[in-house]
Amino acid sequence: MDLTFPFADPPAPGTVTTVAPGLLWARLALPFRLDHVNIYFIETDDGFLIVDTGISDKPTRAAWETLFAGPLKGARFAGLIVTHHHPDHIGLAGWLTERLDIPLLTSRTAFFACLTFFNSPELLAASPYSRFYIRHGMSEDLAAVVSTMGHDYMRMLSKPPFTYQRLAAGDLLPAGGRTFEVMSGDGHSPEQLMLHAPADKLFLAADQVIEKISPNVSVTAFEPWGNPLGAFLASQEAIAATVADDTLVLAGHRLPFYGAAARCRALVAHHRERCDVIANACAAAPKSAADLIPVLFDKRPLSPHETSFAFSEILAHLNHMAALGEVTWEEDGGRARVRRA
Ligand SMILES: [Zn+2]
Repeated sequence: MDLTFPFADPPAPGTVTTVAPGLLWARLALPFRLDHVNIYFIETDDGFLIVDTGISDKPTRAAWETLFAGPLKGARFAGLIVTHHHPDHIGLAGWLTERLDIPLLTSRTAFFACLTFFNSPELLAASPYSRFYIRHGMSEDLAAVVSTMGHDYMRMLSKPPFTYQRLAAGDLLPAGGRTFEVMSGDGHSPEQLMLHAPADKLFLAADQVIEKISPNVSVTAFEPWGNPLGAFLASQEAIAATVADDTLVLAGHRLPFYGAAARCRALVAHHRERCDVIANACAAAPKSAADLIPVLFDKRPLSPHETSFAFSEILAHLNHMAALGEVTWEEDGGRARVRRA
């Protein structure tokens, strides 16, 4: 089944689009190549639950004020749900919960990750993390740049609130006449939350299933042996088995669409294809994660942010392929490379 798109255009800045009764959609700009994030408002008896926040910067706070003074004028708010700890989703959680005097509802992982990055931003540039890049084939100079500038966006956070309410997979979230089932999926971000209202045919997918974009799946320097791609693929299978085709998918980026299972299958196939490209590339000689960047990504020079994403995504494939026995790691003079098994 092809995907279908009931809304041809996203809401213009400062406006909201009603995607279903009691469910509003707005967009906030991001200063990246992916230039926007979607925000949703779920109506409840006590006011709207806001879903996600945008990054913490002046233009995004101004965009929120425009919404509050315009289409949301006089609206009541019951809480803020944050789907995961990436700054385009959690960045303004502290500011919004204080500004509106509402609780933060999120996963335990997202809350503590946000606390860590806010309180110890210098952690991202710690030397064990730059050594991780060197070990996987980057030059010392590039590793120094990527492990600092490549993570600048992780600092786009407002001071998190002191408390939060935990949402976890299996929880039921009543909202107006609806009940959302909380789902969670790993791979793009640990314990990323999704909201599924099967009776109302609505699925707030966060960044787990997006049309056109393949959500970034990265091995982080914090968890160098992790297999986020394995977890991501398992989550795609679970979503494909759970979310019906006539359910409207509302993701963190790009347009709402129908066809969740088809999109999940396409994402699984895309990653399989990338694994095959990697297997071929390291058949003749072993390759490091850094060696594989020009094989899988644009040949044009990548920014530190893009290099960091590309590198970490490739490593996710390598760790997954190693777990499947498709490649083996070899280490030589502190440099790690994979060889086709
Ligand atoms: Zn996102």
